Amino acid sequence: MHELIITPFLDDYVVLCPGNHGGLRLPLHQYRELVQVAADGGRCPPWLADAVRQGWQFDISGRPLNELAVVRDESPHGYVRATYELNLGCNYDCEHCYLGLKRFEGLAWPERERLLYILRDAGVVWLQLTGGEPMIDKLFLDVYGTAYELGMMLTILTNGSRLANPKILELLTTHRPHEITISVYGATEASYDGLTRRRGAFKAFSRGLASAHEAGLPLKLSLIITKTNAHEVEQMQAMGDALGIPHHLYVNMSPTIYGGAETLPSQSVEYLRKRKPFTGCNAGHTFFHVDPHGMASICKIGRDPNISLIEEGVDGLVRLGEIADSLLLRQGGCTGCGLQGTCGTCMPLVQLYRKAKAPLAAYCQHREPREEVAG
Ligand code: SF4
Ligand code: SF4
Repeated sequence: MHELIITPFLDDYVVLCPGNHGGLRLPLHQYRELVQVAADGGRCPPWLADAVRQGWQFDISGRPLNELAVVRDESPHGYVRATYELNLGCNYDCEHCYLGLKRFEGLAWPERERLLYILRDAGVVWLQLTGGEPMIDKLFLDVYGTAYELGMMLTILTNGSRLANPKILELLTTHRPHEITISVYGATEASYDGLTRRRGAFKAFSRGLASAHEAGLPLKLSLIITKTNAHEVEQMQAMGDALGIPHHLYVNMSPTIYGGAETLPSQSVEYLRKRKPFTGCNAGHTFFHVDPHGMASICKIGRDPNISLIEEGVDGLVRLGEIADSLLLRQGGCTGCGLQGTCGTCMPLVQLYRKAKAPLAAYCQHREPREEVAG
């Protein structure tokens, strides 16, 4: 199992250490030297051993480079980040869940394995595994293990309910992720089980959180605030503080990915937050999203048009940049809007709100937020 990833990254070359923060930037000639050393089955050069000792305090001097590092090739595609939704299925039924139907569907193993190699060939270094609940997917362990072996830095978005599972804990502690973000739906059984509409959900979450914390995994908490749990915000924050786990609030609820409005009544009006001005993003250019069927889209919100990576392979991605440019262009009622410069809602999200016939205040500056959403 490798301890380092040596890889091109945008216009740079870097050394990364799974499970650890930070990285070492390499000039091209040192990256090339490492590619050659790995191809020749040689030992780690002293300059790399020194840098690793300084950066991460462990000793690799004299060890064969191939044994301790994955050396990634250059990719002509230039994507460095991706999100992969293993399966939309979930063991919860949250009132605010933007996935709507949450169908249990995903690729069989041979296609999934192929997909992971396509992500590697696209240049993806940072991969987020998500769902639905990714850890209830029957191929989660295989997907995680293969992505890790291919030299990707992994993050996981989870509800935490399966984190006490011994097989999952064993894999995550031996093959450390970069980060695990656990969504938190309440500080008490009443609000947590109420929001997720599952009895026993709070107990499963509490067990998972305790096990992952005890195992020293790199955790973050995303505190999801809806009408059901808004009275417990301080308790939820205190839960993170008591464990020394960083946390942030997630407060603006979106329509479903199908443009459904059923999630919007869960919005806590008190916590509705004005979005920061949207100043553009690299969706479709340096990152992309892949759904459970291997369909690549610019992001989780702008899912159409999309490209079948299983049918077209990595070369299908050449069309994604053009798709991104057309999706992000202001259109419909936003064409020529004088407030565009300070608008916090990107165009694909505006489209979902419109499809859901959401109150204008939920996404557009032409209304005062709180009154209209409350009404
Ligand atoms: S845990 Fe996540 S994926 Fe599952 S229902 Fe809740 S919000 Fe949706
Ligand atoms: S302020 Fe409203 S109309 Fe203007 S760009 Fe944003 S969403 Fe569109």
